[in-house]
Amino acid sequence: MKSQKKTIIIGSGFSALAAASYLSKSGQDVSIFEKNSQIGGRARQLKKEGFTFDIGPTWYWMPDVFERFFADFGKLPSDYYSLEKLSPAYSVYFGVEDRITIGDTLDKICEAFESEEAGSSKTLRKFIDKARKNYDIAIKDLVYRPGLSPLELVTPETAVRVGQFFSTIQRDVRKAFKNERLALILEFPVLFLGAKASKTPGFYSFMNYADFGIGTFHPKKGMYEVVKGMAALAKELGVVIRTDMNVEEIIIDQGRASGVIVNGQKYMADLVLSGADYHHSETLLPKKYRQYSEDYWDRKTFAPSSLLFYIGFDKKLINVDHHTLFFDVDFEKHAEAIYDNAKWPEDPLFYASFPSITDDHAAPNGKEAGIFLIPIAPGLEDTPEIRAVYLDKILTRFESLTNQNVKNSIIFTESFCVNDFVRDYNSYKGNAYGMANTLLQTAFLRPKLKSKKVKNLFFTGQLSVPGPGVPPSLISGKLVADLMQND
Ligand SMILES: Cc1cc2nc3c(=O)[nH]c(=O)nc-3n(C[C@H](O)[C@H](O)[C@H](O)COP(=O)(O)OP(=O)(O)OC[C@H]3O[C@@H](n4cnc5c(N)ncnc54)[C@H](O)[C@@H]3O)c2cc1C
Repeated sequence: MKSQKKTIIIGSGFSALAAASYLSKSGQDVSIFEKNSQIGGRARQLKKEGFTFDIGPTWYWMPDVFERFFADFGKLPSDYYSLEKLSPAYSVYFGVEDRITIGDTLDKICEAFESEEAGSSKTLRKFIDKARKNYDIAIKDLVYRPGLSPLELVTPETAVRVGQFFSTIQRDVRKAFKNERLALILEFPVLFLGAKASKTPGFYSFMNYADFGIGTFHPKKGMYEVVKGMAALAKELGVVIRTDMNVEEIIIDQGRASGVIVNGQKYMADLVLSGADYHHSETLLPKKYRQYSEDYWDRKTFAPSSLLFYIGFDKKLINVDHHTLFFDVDFEKHAEAIYDNAKWPEDPLFYASFPSITDDHAAPNGKEAGIFLIPIAPGLEDTPEIRAVYLDKILTRFESLTNQNVKNSIIFTESFCVNDFVRDYNSYKGNAYGMANTLLQTAFLRPKLKSKKVKNLFFTGQLSVPGPGVPPSLISGKLVADLMQND
């Protein structure tokens, strides 16, 4: 009888949970070692005074990716959590009581575009149709390739779209839409990929199809239900999940990964997979076994970090939706402060989420849960004083834009920023969303799933293939599990 291979997985983010299920299903003996006391990584949950907040992701996009994941185990997402399509999907503020609402169907969104600029809905339908074709090519096929070779990207479909890899989202959007506000809305989805629209290949317009063509969903009780669902599946398949297990070292024996050290104690394994941030994972190895130098990481375009606030309000708020974006300030200036000249933005754009508008579980009756997010450059100085200044800045603007007082309705405020990303997740420079998907950081040009220097050592997660976001993390877990099984 073949003996079961023992695999240790570092971390319990989405990619690690996904990989664990695939590996366990293939017959391996899988244990997850998570340093924190709560699983889920960047998608952990904060509960306070009857309020529930998702600490990280709040947008559930690309439901087909989650369906495909659960289907691989003969399951449905609804076996673990229930989804609601948000209506409206979100709204975007451009000035005082001036906002565009993005509905839950393309027809409704076309109406909104039309009232902003006559004739724009026809252009939008054409744009989204092209984006849909890219979605079919990218999300149903290309992203499920492990980034081993450039040839993976060469298919009959991509061959006729080569120009889209060298054009950018910004160029394509602005060629089609002259209206600044509509252009900004169409450039918003690629922020999830971690780079500016002017640095993201035009082919990534599939994100616009995910946004306008498929829509925005909310798992009842919050995104953490997805973490819980994936952990439940993993456990059903035999995975052991251990929390408060900070891996201090990956043990190498004759060039092979043979276990990890936690709290000075050795845990042996046949295979080691790290779902922690790639940069940190390599620091768990002696220098000669690391594939990427500090200089390599420093040269890479990292996705932003974030300053986040989780606020309990003692009343229901008005003039906001479940997801509300505040684009009332100069977008380019803020982007420059993130990507070109790293500093705190003077007038930040920000995003706010009020899950309790659609979900009773998020806040006690008559109260509102608010999550505010300002994207910032990774590695910025992070002090309580700076956080306080920015909280006041955005709440002052929020009050005037939405025409209501909220500062005097705050029950409590919790915050999370660069220092917390580093402390809680060992995140490189406190990045929130990993490494950006630019042309030179796509597919085979990203840090590899399999170590080139250490046998039986693998990596997964948003710094590797295919990239940032919850759906890509699920895919990353599948890709690495396939590689490990075939190795
Ligand atoms: C604020 C924020 C908002 C976001 N919004 C969205 C969104 O709306 N939609 C979306 O799709 N995506 C969003 N994302 C991105 C998404 O959350 C991530 O891409 C995804 O969760 C990353 O998963 P991962 O598998 O790479 O692992 P991570 O979540 O990074 O987990 C890594 C795990 O490894 C653990 N670890 C680290 N070092 C060690 C060690 N030495 N020993 C043991 N364990 C260790 C960490 O504690 C952590 O649990 C957001 C992210 C953030 C931060």
